[in-house]
Amino acid sequence: MKSASSVIPTTMRAVVFRGPNDFVVDHIPTPAEPRRGTVLVRVRASMICASDQKILAGKFPATRFPHVPGHEFSGEIAASVDGSWPVGTRVGVEVHVGCGVCDRCREGMYTLCLNYGKPDSGHAHIGFTIPGGLAEYVSVPIPALHVLPEGVSFLEGAWTDNLGVALWALERGRLVAGERVVVIGPGAIGLCVVQLARALGAARVTLVGRGERFDRVRGLADGFVDARDIAGLAGSADLVVEFAGTPDAARDAIGLVRRGGRVVLGGATGLGTTLDGLDLSAIVRGNLDVLGSLANPKGVSARALTMLAHGKVDVQRLVTHKFPLMVFDEAWRTFSERREGAIRVMLEP
Ligand SMILES: [Zn+2]
Ligand SMILES: [Zn+2]
Repeated sequence: MKSASSVIPTTMRAVVFRGPNDFVVDHIPTPAEPRRGTVLVRVRASMICASDQKILAGKFPATRFPHVPGHEFSGEIAASVDGSWPVGTRVGVEVHVGCGVCDRCREGMYTLCLNYGKPDSGHAHIGFTIPGGLAEYVSVPIPALHVLPEGVSFLEGAWTDNLGVALWALERGRLVAGERVVVIGPGAIGLCVVQLARALGAARVTLVGRGERFDRVRGLADGFVDARDIAGLAGSADLVVEFAGTPDAARDAIGLVRRGGRVVLGGATGLGTTLDGLDLSAIVRGNLDVLGSLANPKGVSARALTMLAHGKVDVQRLVTHKFPLMVFDEAWRTFSERREGAIRVMLEP
């Protein structure tokens, strides 16, 4: 095995979700030496996201406790048996790895793999069904790796998955240059959508959300509208992209798009969220395309990384706080309580 010049320790620090609402930073065994098809990554930058909150709350059925979370991370290869992924290569990671042989995987839609949650098939959802990157080391299947372009830092590279999710939503929505876009949800993904929409030539991008967060993100969008004042936007968008994850936001999205326009719903991925109070004629008589968007299939994260490398999107601004992995506790509270308008909290193992 080719190993990094520094010796890989047999134990490592990692965040461990021991059970619902019970976590600790612990010393656990470092993942085993990589076999064919995987590499060992030394994590350099790793973020917390709302999905981690769902996992910790026990609302993600495919996750088994104890569990090492973390699915927004970058690092460098620490051990590899694959010559095309040498030790020291700087990588970002996307989190869905398909079995590669089912009907959906063959279409490139490995995010919809029919063998979800069956590790023996080769399927992996990094940080969800297998251990993730809120740790010093993580074993990563090779199909999840993206080489970080020159000039892209580890901090930026930790956005590999998120940027792909944002770009996929815009591709679902068939954005073309000169259109008016409304983005609902000023979280990390929504703010990536805003920037990518501008980069793709949108004429005007309006961000809808809670007013308090707007101070942090002035300049990223062309207009800012508090969610309570959304009625003024009716009919004003060719494309609405929703990343707020609430029924209200979904209803607003469908209500404010112009007739004949497109609505992409990307936020409400939790099971059991239902949509009441929607007049279906808004969709039928509006001739709307209402589209769900899940994650980042078809290698879209690679294109998103290229846009990052070309300066089309600024993610550094969205990292509002940084902590060492040891004080995960503090980082977790900062993120989950949205202290100081926290958008993304970065851990540096
Ligand atoms: Zn996430
Ligand atoms: Zn599959």
